[in-house]
Amino acid sequence: MLSGLCLVSEAAELAARRHAGQQRKGRDEEPYVNHLAEVANILAAACAGEDAELVAAGWLHDVIEDTDTAADELTQRFGQRVAGLVEEVTDDMTLPKSERRQVQVIAAPGKSAGAKQIKIADKISNIRVRIVFEPDLEQQLELMEYVGWAEQVVAGCRGVNARLDALFDETVANARGSL
Ligand code: ZN
Repeated sequence: MLSGLCLVSEAAELAARRHAGQQRKGRDEEPYVNHLAEVANILAAACAGEDAELVAAGWLHDVIEDTDTAADELTQRFGQRVAGLVEEVTDDMTLPKSERRQVQVIAAPGKSAGAKQIKIADKISNIRVRIVFEPDLEQQLELMEYVGWAEQVVAGCRGVNARLDALFDETVANARGSL
């Protein structure tokens, strides 16, 4: 098993390679890897650098859902906990989007502490990218819809990490203030 920095570095490299060529929705169509870096960095700050496996899972959190990567490979390379965290935050892509969103709300309270933190960091990043200067009506509606759903998911994830909870609240306030 890799430890500490090596684990995080290996996760970052794998994520960058597997998500290569993918773009984010929203502002400037940034490379997808920017989202992964942001989520991992939010988690690193939230745990004050104390939980390398959580940060590695942050880098990898979309790799099963959005690339041709299996949980088994993550288990072999990064261990059970990292692979398990990524699996916990992987949506069932056979379901339509509206159902996937409902499942996230219902399932959130039953997730592990680590998965709850990844969920919150993911929602913070996804709200931030939807905050744009002088948004048009469609962008405003999309942001409000996303924030409303994210608040429902995060309601089931709170209480694990006070810094993350506060950062999410701050991000929602910024989103509302941007309209
Ligand atoms: Zn994500």
